[in-house]
Amino acid sequence: MSVYSAQCQCGALRLNATVDPDMVVVCSCKFCQRRTGSPFGAAGYFSRDAISTTGE
Ligand SMILES: [Zn+2]
Repeated sequence: MSVYSAQCQCGALRLNATVDPDMVVVCSCKFCQRRTGSPFGAAGYFSRDAISTTGE
């Protein structure tokens, strides 16, 4: 079983999913380059009911 996790910059909000993402994208626009500090930004998209959250 795959486990995916994410958190905000300060760590107050955490998200977990135990299913594979519905969609994975890779983008090379300037915003994604600035956001990640790399040539590409990658993101996974999950259905809302597949995510559990802790924190605010
Ligand atoms: Zn982009």
